[in-house]
Amino acid sequence: MGFEEIIGHEKQKNLLLSFLKHERMPHAFLFSGQGGIGKKKTALEFVKHILCEHGRGCGACKACIRIQRGTHPDLITLSRQGSETSIGIDLIRGNEEKKIRGINQEVYEYPYEGKKRAVIIDEADSLTREAANALLKTLEEPPPFNIFFLITASEEEIPHTIRSRCSRVFFTALRQDQLKRYFTDVLRLDKLQAETLSLISYGSIGAGIFWLENNNLQIRSGLAEMITGKRKNFLNATLLAERITKTSDGVTVYLSFLLSLFRDIFVLNVSQDSSMVINRDIKNILELEKVNLRWIDESTKRIQETIRIMRYNVNKWLIFEDLLHHIMRHA
Ligand SMILES: [Zn+2]
Repeated sequence: MGFEEIIGHEKQKNLLLSFLKHERMPHAFLFSGQGGIGKKKTALEFVKHILCEHGRGCGACKACIRIQRGTHPDLITLSRQGSETSIGIDLIRGNEEKKIRGINQEVYEYPYEGKKRAVIIDEADSLTREAANALLKTLEEPPPFNIFFLITASEEEIPHTIRSRCSRVFFTALRQDQLKRYFTDVLRLDKLQAETLSLISYGSIGAGIFWLENNNLQIRSGLAEMITGKRKNFLNATLLAERITKTSDGVTVYLSFLLSLFRDIFVLNVSQDSSMVINRDIKNILELEKVNLRWIDESTKRIQETIRIMRYNVNKWLIFEDLLHHIMRHA
């Protein structure tokens, strides 16, 4: 129920509750920090605290249940639609022809049930410039009963003018023991699996869940075999790149994996301290003879560059495939 369900982020939760307790609620929050660590979940649970009939996010009253189901009339959630790469102006300003009601129209209506209305904008960094400008107008003079939550993993891509109107709450990655607790207590994984997953999830519950879905763990070891040249042509780079770049979450997690893979190859074969290895479950794949340091350096740089490029509206499939061809080991 409520905040207890969220693992970690104690400081952030206490801060939010103190705003509520002292009735000093900012009209807009910016929740920032890497993806998959619970920012949106925290916002939702906090909205329960705000709109709950018992004022404590009980999880059982009508308001809490409707928030959970996404049917509370005083909670508006905005995010990218389907395959769209951005949140456009229509969703903010509205569009009569297309019969779209925008946030800017909605927020002037009084809340239907409670005293407050919450507006959650997920991936707020994907607002187009026009949409961001339109939103800014509302954030500058917001009707008093609204509370905005802008959620982002790329804070620097949100215009400064918007950021400066928000109370920033920064979320850090979860610790390994917190992840492990989540994987054993909530996902009911066995100890060894939870341990492995907590190592390869980069502080993110979202990444952990991602690895468990759709054979991703299998693809991950296949990818490691391909890059290290241990199994040639095991996987087709084109198909693999297509599969991995289908979702933007997938790209992010796999790029982080590739960085950790080269870091591990260095640790295992050059510094030879295997206690520092992240990808322990596939350690045998990463043990190589005669490792070329230039290969590690150049590949790492190339992956970092790819991470940067992927932020833009580019053909992710082609770029990922190109990356694979460049970092594959040709021993
Ligand atoms: Zn409640």
